[in-house]
Amino acid sequence: MHNDFQLLDGKKVSQEIQTKLKTQVQEFKNKWGRAPGLHVVLVGQDPASQIYVGHKEKMAQNLGMASKVWRLDEKTSQADLEKLVKQLVDDESVDGILVQLPLPAHLKDEPIMELIPFTKDVDGFTKPSLGALAHGEPLAVSCTPAGVMEILHHYGISVKGLNCVVVGRSLIVGKPMSLLLLNADATVTVCHSKTKNLKDFTRNADLVVVAAGKPQFLGPEDFKKGAIVIDVGIHRDQNNKVCGDVRSEGLDKVVKAASPVPGGVGPMTIVMLMQNTLKLAQARMERNEY
Ligand code: NDP
Repeated sequence: MHNDFQLLDGKKVSQEIQTKLKTQVQEFKNKWGRAPGLHVVLVGQDPASQIYVGHKEKMAQNLGMASKVWRLDEKTSQADLEKLVKQLVDDESVDGILVQLPLPAHLKDEPIMELIPFTKDVDGFTKPSLGALAHGEPLAVSCTPAGVMEILHHYGISVKGLNCVVVGRSLIVGKPMSLLLLNADATVTVCHSKTKNLKDFTRNADLVVVAAGKPQFLGPEDFKKGAIVIDVGIHRDQNNKVCGDVRSEGLDKVVKAASPVPGGVGPMTIVMLMQNTLKLAQARMERNEY
């Protein structure tokens, strides 16, 4: 094991944030006489989405939020889905709107996302939200990368001046992750499937965030001694065991800190959704939008 290896325990950080949020939600209710409102729209029967939405619903309730899940039929039309989203946009008691993706194949997500205003975009997923993040003035930030920053913050890891590599450039993970690191004064390189000699980048980095969606495709040999590794990937291996994008065996002998899978970034994602809901609710109350 590296002399001072630190396991970045996202489960523990997530539980601490939940405890804090419970108090903050109660304070919000005392101050404004209502609970922050999170509305989730789920179309169809996708099994993974059903599970994710169920977890979101349960956590929102546990924290004392006013949450509602709109479960729509698989055959819902584009017009009906747009009508519901518009209704939620106009509803004063709704602070955060989340349309669970992927939508069934006959529905287009882009026009739906365009209906959600920046002020209610709890997933930080729309173009205005990403634009605000690029400007360094985000409201709600995409939950998974926001969770990574919370883990780093919790363990007292400053990225200022660090040479950071983000592997992956998706709109929900890689891009917002790179902007968050840049906003925190890191020097950032973003790698993707067309990057040549990927390992030359990862082996020189002080911090690597791996979000390539490829099971165990990097290992201890791909990182610098004393680096920090954040593994965003979630997969099941041949034995149906949960694993990440990074092979964890022997990693603690090389790097100084790493997030495990499971129990690293995963548990942070939902709790950041809750934090975003509260943030949006507070911002709306301060702007007298209720
Ligand atoms: P996407 O599939 O949307 O994006 C993957 C990115 O990785 C793309 O930018 C792709 O490049 C890049 N990539 C693919 N292969 C390589 C390669 N060989 N070398 C370098 N880059 C590569 O995935 P997501 O961003 O949505 O998710 C990434 C991972 O994180 C997945 O395993 C997912 O399950 C997990 N995840 C976990 C969450 C959590 O809560 N912990 C939440 C969200 C995601 P290109 O753009 O060129 O195609």
